[in-house]
Amino acid sequence: MVNLDVILKYKYNVSELFVSIQGEGTRAGLPCFFVRLHGCELRCRWCDTPYALDLKERATIISGEDILNKIRSSGIKFVTITGGEPLNQRAVLPLMKYLCENDFTVVLETNGHLDISEVDKKVIKIMDLKCPGSKMEKFNNYKNIEYLDKKDEIKFVIADQADYNWAKNKIYELNLQKYVGTILFSPVWKECDPAQLSEWILKDNLPVRLNLQLHKYIWGPDKRGV
Ligand code: SF4
Repeated sequence: MVNLDVILKYKYNVSELFVSIQGEGTRAGLPCFFVRLHGCELRCRWCDTPYALDLKERATIISGEDILNKIRSSGIKFVTITGGEPLNQRAVLPLMKYLCENDFTVVLETNGHLDISEVDKKVIKIMDLKCPGSKMEKFNNYKNIEYLDKKDEIKFVIADQADYNWAKNKIYELNLQKYVGTILFSPVWKECDPAQLSEWILKDNLPVRLNLQLHKYIWGPDKRGV
């Protein structure tokens, strides 16, 4: 059991807290409470949260107590921890564990660069494998794949056909279906046509799920807090 008193006193560097519709993954469409933690060591060429990256910047420092109060008062039992890269702040580990112990469904969205072995087993991990088009491929930490299981999801963000072919090869080379229940192929907004990506997937009969970012279709690509 996590010691609640300890979590209440932790401080988190938070980019934003908000309620919205989960736009990605197998839970797309569900009302969700989002905790976007600030800071990321990567710089994906197409990153859609550039305001949440600078590791040295203190966005808003919020106590664990305030975060938990806001989650509880939302009345929502589905929480997504995202970023930036949440695992830069190790205090997120007990926070996620506490939420799992208290019957919240918790999703962690992680860039896959940092060690995920200490993430609570009940947390649903959506882990990126960075394609070459991101310019961050060298940061993929393939050892993390061993710590994924069938409730987890691996996400490839696809910019072009070269990314598509790279991701397709990785599925078979790393035997990804053995580890996770879902493999997501997500087109880069305004760069990779979803219809074209769908055609490639269907032609190759790939065992993946097309992952459109629902929130961008609903509210547009630049709106924050959704
Ligand atoms: S890992 Fe995520 S938050 Fe970090 S730069 Fe890439 S897309 Fe942005």
